[in-house]
Amino acid sequence: MTKILHRTIGTNLPRAVAGEGIYITDSEGRSYIDGSGGAAVSCLGHNHLEVLQAMKAQMGRISYAHTSFFTTDVAEHLAEQLVELAPEGLDYVYLVSGGSEAVEAALKMARQYFVEIGKPQRRHIIARRQSYHGNTIGALATGGNAGRREQFKPILPETHHVSPCYAYRDMQMGETPEAYAERLAAELEAKIIELGTDTVMAFVAEPVVGATLGAVGPVAHYFKRVRQVCDKYGILLILDEVMCGMGRTGTFFALEQEGIVPDLVTIAKGLGGGFQPIGAVMLSEKIYRAFAEGSGLFQHGHTYIGHPIAAAAANKVVEILKRPETMTNVIKMGDRLQAGLDAALAQSPYVGDIRGRGLFRGVELVADKDTKQPFDPVRKIHSKIKKEAMQRGLMCYPMGGTIDGVYGDHILLAPPYIIQPAQIDLIIERLAAAINAAVK
Ligand code: PMP
Repeated sequence: MTKILHRTIGTNLPRAVAGEGIYITDSEGRSYIDGSGGAAVSCLGHNHLEVLQAMKAQMGRISYAHTSFFTTDVAEHLAEQLVELAPEGLDYVYLVSGGSEAVEAALKMARQYFVEIGKPQRRHIIARRQSYHGNTIGALATGGNAGRREQFKPILPETHHVSPCYAYRDMQMGETPEAYAERLAAELEAKIIELGTDTVMAFVAEPVVGATLGAVGPVAHYFKRVRQVCDKYGILLILDEVMCGMGRTGTFFALEQEGIVPDLVTIAKGLGGGFQPIGAVMLSEKIYRAFAEGSGLFQHGHTYIGHPIAAAAANKVVEILKRPETMTNVIKMGDRLQAGLDAALAQSPYVGDIRGRGLFRGVELVADKDTKQPFDPVRKIHSKIKKEAMQRGLMCYPMGGTIDGVYGDHILLAPPYIIQPAQIDLIIERLAAAINAAVK
């Protein structure tokens, strides 16, 4: 009997014993293609030799130095690398230990920013429905996933939600992407006015929505309009790139494709490539200056922030991501994955939409393709597909989009960036077979 409290109690999980490249092997000798990078984490695959060597070298130097006593060259170098890669305007880095911690820190930074500049009445956070920003209480409250929030109510009262940008479901017949973006911007503006224009501190969104919607990117102009609305009312824009960042969508930051610069960005997952938990908040000069010229202290911190071994792993991951051939492969293999899924699933009456960017792709399942009617949530199509896929040696990331009774089930694919054409074709073949078996 296991002594571990597994998330889903009573499930019989295979025991992972080895990882190599895009594969994980279990104790029975079965091999699985890591088609989801775990949860969009293992961006360079398993046991990447260069990352392992970088970590080993760091272990021989210094493994831990508390950040209230020391800075380290590896943490400093990581911050420099990230700033160099980020769009102009994201000038500083606060290192943390994971995604929820990054979101939590960004929220507290936004809050303290307004306190520092003498506007403590700015406390409301607006995010989007059907979103996920982490599991700590602040991040959970920010996420607009009603099912996950429900049992923790009363959760932070200052969190509010507007519609996500989800063209497949919500763009109306005859509506242009511009008009759709305009409609969503108007909804955000109306929410700000309802709450009081000088009471909102931040708007939080994922540039490309991962876990909760399944690789749903915005329509053109959406984030430009969001940025304009935030600027109009002096609200900070926080973009959560925990899942879609670090090259996942074909650019280092997904937000680069939107032509805007937020005030704060959160990154994690791919940053450590699965070798070490690590995350970061990137922030603008404006916020940094408010802290520096104000109290001189960010009222936050965790024991393992800026961990030297995690930073050494992340430095090597970033270095590999910077090699032109890495992003070229993400784009090429992402296109191959999309085209292959389109072809393999075109005939399925239950596949409503296949979308995404780079090696971040989502398949949405529906009971009726014409009406887009979701499957009855009781059928749990997403978990059936996961089970069928595991039996065929494929890991994919499922989600019941019907959490709020609104959208279809979906499957997220986020394989490592080192993946090769024949392996992409295997993912397509195995996923198509799993879907066909599950929807029967
Ligand atoms: N934000 C987003 C967009 C995420 O996808 C996740 C994790 N799925 C988180 C935050 C939380 O990250 P972590 O699980 O590392 O705490």
